Amino acid sequence: MTGENRLIDRHGRRHSYLRISITDRCNLRCTYCMPPQGIDWTPREEILTADEIVRLGTIFVGMGITKIRLTGGEPLTRRDFNQLAERLGALPGLKTLAMTTNGISLAKRAAGLRAVGLNGLTISLDTLRRDRFLQIAKRDQFDAVMEGIEAALAAGFAPLKINVVVMRGVNDDEILDFVDWAKDRPINVRFIEYMPFPDNKWSTGGLMPYVEMRAMIARDYELIPLLGEATAVGKDFRLAGHSGTVSFVTSMTESFCGGCNRLRVTADGNIKSCLFHPAEQSLRDAMRAGGTDLDVERLITQAVDGKQAAHPPMEELMTMKNRTMIEIGG
Ligand code: SF4
Repeated sequence: MTGENRLIDRHGRRHSYLRISITDRCNLRCTYCMPPQGIDWTPREEILTADEIVRLGTIFVGMGITKIRLTGGEPLTRRDFNQLAERLGALPGLKTLAMTTNGISLAKRAAGLRAVGLNGLTISLDTLRRDRFLQIAKRDQFDAVMEGIEAALAAGFAPLKINVVVMRGVNDDEILDFVDWAKDRPINVRFIEYMPFPDNKWSTGGLMPYVEMRAMIARDYELIPLLGEATAVGKDFRLAGHSGTVSFVTSMTESFCGGCNRLRVTADGNIKSCLFHPAEQSLRDAMRAGGTDLDVERLITQAVDGKQAAHPPMEELMTMKNRTMIEIGG
């Protein structure tokens, strides 16, 4: 049953956006996401099956979710991705089915993804330089990602979102290059403040605050604010004479928790009400123990009820127990 939203927390926030991590596997090793020593992959039998993901999708949409984003690890490493996307895309009441990918296998798959019902796409790309791609992602896949981006645009994913995690002393010298790159492309370049997760070498020194990134661009360009939704994570701007736009995701220096509408499910089936809070409940175990949809709904409602108002200050996040970024899916 769709209709009224039953995912409203104690702070009055209405949750309509679910991020589902469908695998913790990835074919890149990005330094801000994957610990240098790697992670112990979750055994396959503990990862949600396609039937379980569709069942959860159905339950969440019935409670008021209208947007689902598929994340990972790298979601396209799942062999049943297209079938899964097709089944989720067919859920009555779901308006947006999106995905965040590293783009490596998009060149061959972009058109097919449109055909199975994906109507939103975000590609992670932290540099426009091949050598630096190798430095950040530890795999020589720059060309494949760039071909993937062109294929996604050709397949009609527009505006195509490009996530750029900005790390001082690593890629902050490319901010203006990304702005130039957006001149003649229908892309939305999203400059993301570097966030602390276990073993991702985060430091306050590595953080490039929003105000500094914006000032750097404003020296050369007129940034014209775009009105976004109250729940949006990005501060959006257009630039005169540019087809593309830029956004800033400022979770560290200007957090957007007050308008948060997001819930997460991890690849092993835990609901996580907040990116930066360790509390989790297993929906997978409830389903595998023969629980009804109502039992699962109760666990979801408990998680929403217990959601914190905002994430702690960044210094506290550094020491807080949490999953690594790759195990959450952003
Ligand atoms: S930190 Fe938590 S509450 Fe804040 S925006 Fe992110 S998920 Fe929402």
